[in-house]
Formats: sequence, C-alpha cells, structure tokens
Amino acid sequence: MTEKYLTLVNIEHPIHHPVERETLVSVSEEHPGILMERTAAEALQELLADIGGKGLIVPVSGWRSRKEQEKIWADTVADRGLAFARKYVALPGCSEHETGLAIDLAAKAPDIDFICPEFPRIGICQKFREAAPYYGFIERYTKEKESVTGISEEPWHFRYVGTPHSIRITEQNLALEEYMERFAGKDRRSVSRRSYLPGRMFRGMQGISRMYASGKERI
Ligand SMILES: [Zn+2]
Repeated sequence: MTEKYLTLVNIEHPIHHPVERETLVSVSEEHPGILMERTAAEALQELLADIGGKGLIVPVSGWRSRKEQEKIWADTVADRGLAFARKYVALPGCSEHETGLAIDLAAKAPDIDFICPEFPRIGICQKFREAAPYYGFIERYTKEKESVTGISEEPWHFRYVGTPHSIRITEQNLALEEYMERFAGKDRRSVSRRSYLPGRMFRGMQGISRMYASGKERI
C-alpha cells in the first residue's frame, strides 16, 4: 500500500511543489496533449479498456500548469461570471489538476463543455464510475460532500489516490478530506489493515463482466 497518491489539495491545502514534468505522460495516443502522472494514466487506460469505454469516454482535462489554471480561472470569470467560476473552478494553486492526479471526463459528444462536461450516471459513464475505485480512482466532488470539499458536485472529475484507499473511501462514503483526517488519526490501523482487491486481482478472480452485470456486487 502506498500513500504516495493521497495528497490532499484544496483551498486550505494549496500545492507547494509543482509536479515534476518527467513524471507526466499522455493519457492515450489519441489525446497526446492531455497528461497525467504515469501511474494514474496507466490505471485510467486499464480501466477504460476493461469496461469497453475507449472511444465512448473522452478525457477533457488532465494535468494543468499553474499558468493554465490561472488562465482557466480568468477566462471562466470573464465568460461566465465570478459566481460560476467559484463553483466549478479551483483557484490557481488549489486545483487537483496541478498534481497530475485528476482527470475530467466526458461522454463522447460533438460539443463538450470544457468546464462542466457531461458525464451522466447511466450507461458507460456509470460503469466507469462503479469500476473506478478498483483501479485507484474516486469520484472526488459529490453532491453529498459539497459542504466538506467546498466544491460543487462535479460528476466528471475523478482523482487518482491508489488502491486500497480508493476502495475504502468509496465503501465508507467519505470525502478525501474526511479520509485523510481518519488516516492521520487513531483509525489509521483499521483503515490500512482491511483487505482489498485492486482491479487486476479482482478481474482474475471473478471476471469483470459478471460484476458489472450484477451491478450491486461488492467485495
Ligand atoms: Zn476537474
């Protein structure tokens, strides 16, 4: 188990060190300009391949430099107003996208909104959402946790934290903020000692299609 990918980034925890550029790779050959940290990019590829999501799910935004985040913030304020920007765009220095561990995804469509892409809770997108924890990803900003994260619901934004953290966070219905608090505190042992099945192991044991067919099956 690694804690390497658990970095908490929010308005109270800004990024102090920019990500090392050599750790970033393209998320796919089809999208050479969208970058993520290598392990996260590989996990994303594996997940998309396993659920048959390639070509149906499109990466919209991965790693962003501080400069890019500043531009996105300024453009969004100019185009859609400050209230909208505050809701959906993190302040420069406080965006998970600057870590290379976050990805915004969209259902393939002719027009994709860069800031708020459509990633519905049905079909292949929902299949992705349900499989994501087994590959190290969490849906980072849910409606239920808006008061904890300080960010409006973003069904399109996924964050790589690595397994088993992603599985535990999802099973225990926690925001990353809440998990980090527990992880740092007394509950650390119970968090880390529970068993888990990362995607690769899980597939080997059960066959991934059977799991998705049943919909509700969980480890
Ligand atoms: Zn995002």
